[in-house]
Amino acid sequence: MNDEALQLPAATLARRVGAGDRSSLATTDAAFARSQAVGAGPDGLNIFLGHDREWSRAEAEAIDARVVRGESVGPLAGVPVAVKDNLATVHLPTTCGSRILEGYRSPFEATAVRRLREAGAVVVGKTNMDEFAMGSSTESSAYGPTRNPRAPDRVPGGSSGGSAAAVAAGIVPIALGSETGGSVRQPAAFCGITGIKPTYGRVSRYGLVAYGSSLDHVGVMGRTVDDAALGLQVIAGYDGRDATCLDVPVPDYRSAASSSMAGVVIGRPREYFPASLDPRVREACDAALDALRAAGAEVRDVSLPHTALAIPAYYIVAPAEASSNLARFDGARYGLRLSGEGLRGMYESTRSRGFGAEVTRRILLGTYVLSAGYYDAYYRKAMEVRRLITNDFAAVFGAGVHALVTPTTPTPAFRLGEVSDPYEMYLSDVFTVTANLAGVPAMSVPAGFVDALPIGVQVIAPHFGEHAMLGVAYALERALGVGGAR
Ligand code: GLN
Repeated sequence: MNDEALQLPAATLARRVGAGDRSSLATTDAAFARSQAVGAGPDGLNIFLGHDREWSRAEAEAIDARVVRGESVGPLAGVPVAVKDNLATVHLPTTCGSRILEGYRSPFEATAVRRLREAGAVVVGKTNMDEFAMGSSTESSAYGPTRNPRAPDRVPGGSSGGSAAAVAAGIVPIALGSETGGSVRQPAAFCGITGIKPTYGRVSRYGLVAYGSSLDHVGVMGRTVDDAALGLQVIAGYDGRDATCLDVPVPDYRSAASSSMAGVVIGRPREYFPASLDPRVREACDAALDALRAAGAEVRDVSLPHTALAIPAYYIVAPAEASSNLARFDGARYGLRLSGEGLRGMYESTRSRGFGAEVTRRILLGTYVLSAGYYDAYYRKAMEVRRLITNDFAAVFGAGVHALVTPTTPTPAFRLGEVSDPYEMYLSDVFTVTANLAGVPAMSVPAGFVDALPIGVQVIAPHFGEHAMLGVAYALERALGVGGAR
């Protein structure tokens, strides 16, 4: 049985804890009990890579003590949260799902994590992920895959699969993930929850282990749109420790709940509804668009003509940046060190045994596309394509469209082991990588079920248009039900 406090909207739970009506300690215990019930280890869901129950309980007790003293704790008072294992935490290790960082402890804390804790949240664990956030299924984790709580023979998506599973399994209402090409939205869709990738520069990435720096974002997942909006509210905003974080005022995101759809123009980009799309996915998205129309929105057919180039461009830019970012894991500075002949031998054995197959493939690919003679043919070309994709978004938003609605993924969650061809795996991000290339905010909201498996509908907005994006998401949730279950 799950404790009813874990089913509450996060804002309600925080209000109760803050008012002394509910203990943070009891809520933390409930989250651990739920986590245990859904199973650790290879036969369970395998959601967490690191946790420390006594430390989390001490954090919760400190919150309860502040409430007793009459202090105001914050908008997440006593709310249990889960954090992807590529966000630096001081008390718990940060492994990025890789052998090369097994047991690594950061000397500093990621800004997003710090802000959650300062708002009163209790971190209950670090979540499983594809190694260094490279993947779409959590199967490339060095610590075994996570299973989808809605269908344990299926993947939860990736790379933030553990965070999505922690929310979908009812352990936490809010979790942090990261996005380079869809790693929050795609697992949110596969697990039937909400996932937000904010605008590039909206949330500090200080303490996020870098994968593709020009594409990386910290994102947030919630059981409902409001839970995710509350999480975003807490982590958004300027941070002098991240040079790419912009000093733009943070609106009241949760006020988007009362946005009217009257006069809102929604674009339906035809490239996101190709003839090959599973008709059931198309129907679910069109039903979502009908619901927005019924709520007063105008729906327009629009075109983002360079969409088909997004996957090839992404799989040049992301590995290029990864090959540079991952050079620091050399056996000298962090985590694993394996001996070999001389310094070079140490590098070689540490890196060839510390990194898994997908990470190795990306480093090789990235090194190749950046090498002399190939830079212009691949990397420069990919950057030009990236500009065209960004211009596509600018053109539709400039023509009076407030938000775009598309499928989040072409299919529901696949079976563990079902997708073994890396290229086929890359295609599961076909509708999500565009927003990372352009830096625009995008989110996934549950849109019902295909074969009894959750699917998501994606809402994309202009830069810093999170409030408008959330307005559409709240309207969709009102029409479709929490978890798309209506
Ligand atoms: N699946 C994509 C990749 O493997 C995106 C991952 C992500 O967003 N971190 O690169």
